[in-house]
Amino acid sequence: MFEITPLIRTNIRNLKAYSSARDEFSGNEGVFLDANENPFGQWNRYPDPYQLKLKEILSELKGLAVNQLFVGNGSDEVIDLLFRIFCEPGKDKALTFSPTYGMYSVSAAINDIELIQIPLNAEFDLDLELTLPVLNDVNLKLIFICSPNNPTGNSLSIKGIETILESFNGIVLIDEAYIDFSSKSSLIGLLRTYPNLIVAQTMSKARGLAAARVGFAFASEEIIQLMNKVKPPYNVSGLNQQQAIEALLDQKRFDQEVKRLLMERDNLIEALEGIQLVKKVYPTDANFVLVEVTDANKIYSHLVERKIIVRNRNSVINNCLRITVGSNEENKRLISEIKQIENEKSTIY
Ligand code: PMP
Repeated sequence: MFEITPLIRTNIRNLKAYSSARDEFSGNEGVFLDANENPFGQWNRYPDPYQLKLKEILSELKGLAVNQLFVGNGSDEVIDLLFRIFCEPGKDKALTFSPTYGMYSVSAAINDIELIQIPLNAEFDLDLELTLPVLNDVNLKLIFICSPNNPTGNSLSIKGIETILESFNGIVLIDEAYIDFSSKSSLIGLLRTYPNLIVAQTMSKARGLAAARVGFAFASEEIIQLMNKVKPPYNVSGLNQQQAIEALLDQKRFDQEVKRLLMERDNLIEALEGIQLVKKVYPTDANFVLVEVTDANKIYSHLVERKIIVRNRNSVINNCLRITVGSNEENKRLISEIKQIENEKSTIY
């Protein structure tokens, strides 16, 4: 039987959460003299701390109850909150599968948590032989699984993910930041089976709202309550809640943009595969492609000189660049500049 209480940091278990003015009275009608706000203006009032309107729409979209939803200041806030709720600084550990999204290790370091990094196998998938023995470590509290994975682009095997969920008594976060671009379905459905599972998604990618900073966590009611207890009271601004609501309601735009980006992704991959400087284009389920080139540092610098900015991942995967799928014009510019580099610098590479 999974029990959440022993996993919670003692100070968080004992924490008396801040009670905001909007916690004590949440109606819209009345004379509000309780929160030291300015009575004039359009954005003068504190926002709903629990983002109910947004959550009601999200609840419909995701088929989850409102009390299974958490809205964060980007999903980066979700990552940081999990360390603060479940990991005792200087004592507990977290686990990631490398190479993966960099914020897991930065958040671990900020919270003084030792990070165990198990390398993904040659197909960039979970290596269970290396992983399973580590799951018995009593100080291991948190596992991050990024699928589709950043920066490799592939989805991890569901069988491997489920084996980890079954074998581990701590919290598992599946980070689905790129799920809307994937041919595989979200693992939200596994929430019914695994009480230790949290699924994170974001509005920063397919929903086109990176500037607004809105991310989600889906989990059991108990876990969501803990996240609400520890988050800053007004963690998502009123302006951002409104933008998020508008974006979630515009399903047509979302569908069209995802379809367009997937088409652009196919074209980009095909064009990249025809370039000699490109040694390999890895399969992707995301809105980016990992590309092995002859010399990542040099090609990256030459592209920057031409004002084309890609992500140089040479430090984590030898000679690899991570290229985001842009608009048709942007992708064409990228391809034409790489071809020019190829022609001009053929003697260098
Ligand atoms: N998870 C992954 C895998 C990401 O790549 C990113 C952003 N690049 C995030 C989470 C953070 O997203 P957000 O904008 O929601 O904080």
